[in-house]
Amino acid sequence: MVRRYLEAHCLGKTVAGAVVNQPACINVPPTAYGRCIAGATLEHVWRKGKLVMVDLSNQVSLIVHLALGGEVLLRDTADHDPARTQIVLTFADGTALHFHQLRLGNVHVYPTYHLATTRLGRLGADALDELPSVAGLQALYGASGKPIKVLLLEQTLICGIGNLYGDELLFGAGLHPERRGKTLTGEEFVRLREAIAETLNAALRSRTPEAPPYEPHVYGRTGEPCRACGCTIQRLRLNNRSAHLCPTCQPLG
Ligand SMILES: [Zn+2]
Repeated sequence: MVRRYLEAHCLGKTVAGAVVNQPACINVPPTAYGRCIAGATLEHVWRKGKLVMVDLSNQVSLIVHLALGGEVLLRDTADHDPARTQIVLTFADGTALHFHQLRLGNVHVYPTYHLATTRLGRLGADALDELPSVAGLQALYGASGKPIKVLLLEQTLICGIGNLYGDELLFGAGLHPERRGKTLTGEEFVRLREAIAETLNAALRSRTPEAPPYEPHVYGRTGEPCRACGCTIQRLRLNNRSAHLCPTCQPLG
């Protein structure tokens, strides 16, 4: 949705400068940041995993990572509240792109030719646009002794699956988050692949303005009844992350 938003509202605009209120959100000194992008035009917006790239006309690219709760908004003015807005890109036409609530998010600049050597180059195939075949998933996950939930979050294998939708798609596949990759059968990999595609597409549809919000089946529903079987949703810790599941719909054994 961020990619679509930037593409619809910002392509063709020319950068005038940048206001950086939170230097932790950028990867160069604040004074250099604006110089890297001023005078350049936004030419191309694309996405891989959770990263959105904006290629500029001067062979520089922005890598936008909004992280949890981060927002980007085009406004008619550069006026902003510095406590809430970490970065503002101003455009030659007077409008401005505001990045709110970035927290752990960031907007880095790199030479476009250098992108493959950044964290972008370490990402696996995109879960939405480049989802591997069942055999491909088996090759990525099927030899590992790690829990499938942990494997799904490893962005170097497949990128774009976060904690919430990782839990949701495992519910959809009927797989317990602690199942080891190497214990999954061929039939379970078929279910897993279908659940990845269905869950991510449902999530994307829910982010369009007219659609109802996504209603999780298990994520954030600890102690509530499973909507499929009535059993109580459980939460467990897995590699310092949470995992939510229905113990009946997602049996371990
Ligand atoms: Zn259930």
